[in-house]
Amino acid sequence: MASTRNHLSRVLAILALALVSPAAASPFEDALGPAPREDDGRFLNLAGPMPEVSASVTLPFFLRRIASSFTEISSALDQVPNDGAWLRENAKHSEPAVTWVGHATLLVQMGHLTFLTDPIWSDRASPVSFAGPQRIVEPGVAIDDLPPIDFVVVSHNHYDHLDLPSLVTLSERDPNTRFYVPLENGELLRENGIENVEELDWGQHVEHEGVRVYCLPAQHWSKRGIGDDREALWSSWAVVSPERRFFFAGDTGYFDGFARIAEALGPFDLAALPIGAYEPTEMMKASHLNPEEAVQAAIDLRARAAVAMHYGTFKLSDEPLDEPPTRFKEAASEGALGDEAAWLLRIGETRAF
Ligand code: ZN
Ligand code: ZN
Repeated sequence: MASTRNHLSRVLAILALALVSPAAASPFEDALGPAPREDDGRFLNLAGPMPEVSASVTLPFFLRRIASSFTEISSALDQVPNDGAWLRENAKHSEPAVTWVGHATLLVQMGHLTFLTDPIWSDRASPVSFAGPQRIVEPGVAIDDLPPIDFVVVSHNHYDHLDLPSLVTLSERDPNTRFYVPLENGELLRENGIENVEELDWGQHVEHEGVRVYCLPAQHWSKRGIGDDREALWSSWAVVSPERRFFFAGDTGYFDGFARIAEALGPFDLAALPIGAYEPTEMMKASHLNPEEAVQAAIDLRARAAVAMHYGTFKLSDEPLDEPPTRFKEAASEGALGDEAAWLLRIGETRAF
């Protein structure tokens, strides 16, 4: 009798849990989310608070950046013409392919869907049009030449990743385009007239017409205005279809999250990893990968190939513009990833994966 009662109470407990748990909850989510928060609601990284960097490093850096924002800089990147014709045709049958538009903007086609990562078409990654990091290479595909975009993922609210003019244009172009953002980023989009938005926490996913879109940890931060540090969440993303697994790191430092993500969702067919914005090291190390760390991240993610991004498009940091791709190739060739698996696309180039 006692055991029957125990059994009954266990069944009732499971039923009660099923009623209160969101549909997307799973043991996997517990491993990767929710994102930690401070008492005041500000988000934290898995490793906790980031180290403070002294003003003797940050101040000269910001002065150099201001000077650079008014200096003419020439591009070190190769560009191939891309009128979007093949991409528009491929949207109908969707051979898995990735196109580098520039910076962290990739157009990905897989599972009969077309999506964009961190779309930026603007001339500056900045709240103002007259200053801030300037675009030094034209976008690889004109925004008007894009195929219909099923969805967009945004990693965080820094201006080089969350570019409101581009998001508004994409939304006006096609109201069916859906925008997936990490927690507390939705309001900014809605304030600007973008209604088709969904916020996700780390570990959560949505089903989008046969593919799963996962919001996942990254080691970074957020800030868009005065005093709003870490109020909106940052993330990486994975998109999983029956035939392909794609990972987009957003902006991130090196952390054990890559191995944890691989354990839950790997191996990946393609991982898009940032390789630029790593100098001065003391300032950047916690929140940006250098090229060698990007190669290690690809290995941790068990990625069959890694495509480099977040370099060469805007001058954001102190390292020379042509250094990240050279170091990325060297590190891959010398280590377990191998030269062939380390992809440097030209701006506008499309490659099957
Ligand atoms: Zn950032
Ligand atoms: Zn960035």
